[in-house]
Amino acid sequence: MIPYGRQTLDDADKQAVLRVLNSDFLTQGPEVPEFEAALSSRVGAAHSIAMTSATAALHAACLALDVGPGDSVWTSAISFVASANCAVYCGASVDFVDIDARSGNMSIPALENKLRIAAKNGVLPKVLIPVHFAGQPLDMESISNLGKRYRFRIIEDASHALGASYAGETVGNCRYSDITVFSFHPVKMITTAEGGAATTNDHSIATRLAKLRSHGITRDPSEIEHYEGDWFYDQVELGFNYRMTDMFAALGASQLRKLEAFLDARRKVVSHYQEALDSAKFQSLLQDPNGSSSWHLFVILVNNPEDRKVVFDHLRSNGILVNVHYRPIYRQSFYSKMEKYNPTDFPGAESYYSSAISLPIFPALSKDQILNIVKVLDTKPGYQVLF
Ligand SMILES: *Cc1c(COP(=O)(O)O)cnc(C)c1O
Repeated sequence: MIPYGRQTLDDADKQAVLRVLNSDFLTQGPEVPEFEAALSSRVGAAHSIAMTSATAALHAACLALDVGPGDSVWTSAISFVASANCAVYCGASVDFVDIDARSGNMSIPALENKLRIAAKNGVLPKVLIPVHFAGQPLDMESISNLGKRYRFRIIEDASHALGASYAGETVGNCRYSDITVFSFHPVKMITTAEGGAATTNDHSIATRLAKLRSHGITRDPSEIEHYEGDWFYDQVELGFNYRMTDMFAALGASQLRKLEAFLDARRKVVSHYQEALDSAKFQSLLQDPNGSSSWHLFVILVNNPEDRKVVFDHLRSNGILVNVHYRPIYRQSFYSKMEKYNPTDFPGAESYYSSAISLPIFPALSKDQILNIVKVLDTKPGYQVLF
């Protein structure tokens, strides 16, 4: 069986975790700040705040931008549900921007159009959460210009996109956004088992995120009105326990050292697929020539949507654990029962969803495995292919 994604761990990773298990601190020790410093330096941001997951980081990021009841947050119609849930956690309402069916990414013309209409109706979003889908970076400069014109803040959901860059700007450097969020789930670019991080260049957002990660507590005397002594801390707002452990931060730091090798390996997988795939039957996602993708996912679009289920089932029955990323978020029951989203408003997402299949991609996927996957794709569904 071949999964669609999986971690790549070596001895150094395992030793890093063991070293922490034998040390004084399992959590709140030195490993988290070290991992954060390495992450900041890799992506070119002033601050990184590691958390228990990207979902936690998205929640904290929304709170750090004061998202609350009465506010509207927009994200991409095709993403993991966490990109939208973070706004609902804060009591805000969610709306979706349609995607470009050929790239899978948020459509900037659709965003512009939706903003123009929202401005007329007085329902502009407070925060936009663009998603660098499959690892392909969005043109954040254009999005940031719209943000200035329509006065919304920006949280990049870069769960798929550690190591990606657009026109020379590394995703996560926050040149065109307030905050960027990464995920370290095992199928993502590097892993800490569960884990995520937020990066920002804004010092006050960084300290707010750090507080929200730890119960809303500060120990900084300059932030405390009646400081009494070194035992003193003050809960200044309602926060959470979203702290990453030292074991997982050490794993993250060890993984991060291999990011370039992982990215290279993923690019190789893609080039093997592209050489072998029959483009008359399957299209891969259109890539923006200014972008360099981290290739979290390798999605193919089946030319004839009626074939999607047949092809999907055929691959699965041959032990190839393909997936569909993603069903449009507004189609999930939780969102569809709100009865405010109309699928016909999202022709790009509907078209993409009807024909997408994610083929396996991870650094250790071999050329032979890839050729076998393509062989299964090329055989008539219904027949088993015996390797
Ligand atoms: C994986 C993912 C998340 C959530 O990441 P976790 O670390 O599992 O919480 C959020 N957004 C997107 C787009 C993702 O793919």
